[in-house]
Amino acid sequence: MEYTSTRNDALRVSASEAILKGLAPDGGLFVPVEFPQVKPEEFYGLTYPQTAEKVLRLFLTDYDPDFLKRAVEEAYGAGCFSGKADFLARVEEKLWSLELWHGPTCAFKDYALQLMPKLLVEAKRNLGDTGTTKILVATSGDTGKAALAGYAGLPGIRIAVFYPNAGTSEVQRLQMATQEGGNVAVYAVEGNFDDTQTGVKHVFADTALARQLGQKNERLSSANSINWGRLVPQIVYYFYSYAQLVAQNGIAAGDAVDYCVPTGNFGDILAGYYAKRMGLPVGRLICASNQNNVLTELLETGRYDVRRPFYKTESPSMDILVSSNLERLLYHTTQDAGAVALWMQQLAQDGVYTLPENVLAKIQETFFGACADDAQGRAEIRARFAQNGYLCDTHTAVAFCAARTAISSEDPCVVLSTASPYKFPCAVLGALGEERTADEFDAMRRLTEKTGVPVPESLASLREKEIRFTQVIDKNEMPEIALLL
Ligand SMILES: *Cc1c(COP(=O)(O)O)cnc(C)c1O
Repeated sequence: MEYTSTRNDALRVSASEAILKGLAPDGGLFVPVEFPQVKPEEFYGLTYPQTAEKVLRLFLTDYDPDFLKRAVEEAYGAGCFSGKADFLARVEEKLWSLELWHGPTCAFKDYALQLMPKLLVEAKRNLGDTGTTKILVATSGDTGKAALAGYAGLPGIRIAVFYPNAGTSEVQRLQMATQEGGNVAVYAVEGNFDDTQTGVKHVFADTALARQLGQKNERLSSANSINWGRLVPQIVYYFYSYAQLVAQNGIAAGDAVDYCVPTGNFGDILAGYYAKRMGLPVGRLICASNQNNVLTELLETGRYDVRRPFYKTESPSMDILVSSNLERLLYHTTQDAGAVALWMQQLAQDGVYTLPENVLAKIQETFFGACADDAQGRAEIRARFAQNGYLCDTHTAVAFCAARTAISSEDPCVVLSTASPYKFPCAVLGALGEERTADEFDAMRRLTEKTGVPVPESLASLREKEIRFTQVIDKNEMPEIALLL
């Protein structure tokens, strides 16, 4: 399987190169040149690691199959994800919640970040790269911990995570500050998330620093969600959950199933599109947004317009205005790299672009957008718990709202549940009508008392863990840190 760029499809690279480079030289994203075709029944009866192995082998054709088998076993095998690597909860007759948060950091990003670091190390081996890779991550919370957990202890890799001082939740801060491993470092940065991200971007653009690092056979890399190595592991759970629905007689083999995905950077939902293009009977993909509903507008009108207020919501991982992975959908829909390059240029220059009607119509054949604000999300958390005895987090709640807008109760629909309710315990407790508290551990305790849903062990034990990282830095110190990391 070869890969090309969304902005120049004369380019051809291998899977290893796509994963090692992350971004194409023209600024585009790497995409496979074709969709491997499979039959859903080939996946019936497979375990989660077996499903992952099968999907990865179709796409990562220059990787050693034995390596892939080992890697998926280490990432998703027995003992990983609390034995619930893909837990499908039936919420109503035709409505399921695919709980993707039983991994080490209690958010769905673990699926990508438990595997992708291994894929990166192997890509270096495949390409004869003997240097040290230094991963720098700017995070507002969730990605930082998931990346630390994935890269800790890997050979030839060092990782530094930067988060805004006082800009994360207490649970998120402790998750990062207590991270174990000899190749990890964590810093709080004076300022907000923008300052942190700008600081990291400057380090990546620092050519003098790159030269100094090069002399030591070291290179910088990022862990962000546009890397093909983060996207491909997410295709797996669409196939696995479909096979589970058939096995549990939730649907008949071959029936179409809608998937509803709480969306930020458009990676998770795009993986569903790949599954559909590969032959899985996916019906509609419902793109759920919070008050930052730039994608809802796009899917309705064809206009992508980031010139709008940015809202900080109770579903912070979806507080995104530029959904980078959308670029891949535009390429696959049009097969026109020139047009994609032009839209991305318009977006960068003017903050807006508009898709032609035929392109929008083609996207609308599969995608439907719907949004919900914080108040609607809170009502949804309360309603799901009262009516179905099902407790969900603030991101999943947005998706439940969107699903109800989009489907009738006859259509089978799987909502992707992206975070444990205990990752956002104060907001969830408040949504259930309980008195609010700002103390997250107190909120966890009260939430489990009220609902009987246990607190995930990795969160419950946080307060007892040794704090390893407390340093607060100025963003100007980042280049020095990158050099000495
Ligand atoms: C990252 C994240 C999302 C958004 O996923 P994308 O792939 O960026 O669309 C949704 N929910 C949670 C909890 C997340 O951490």
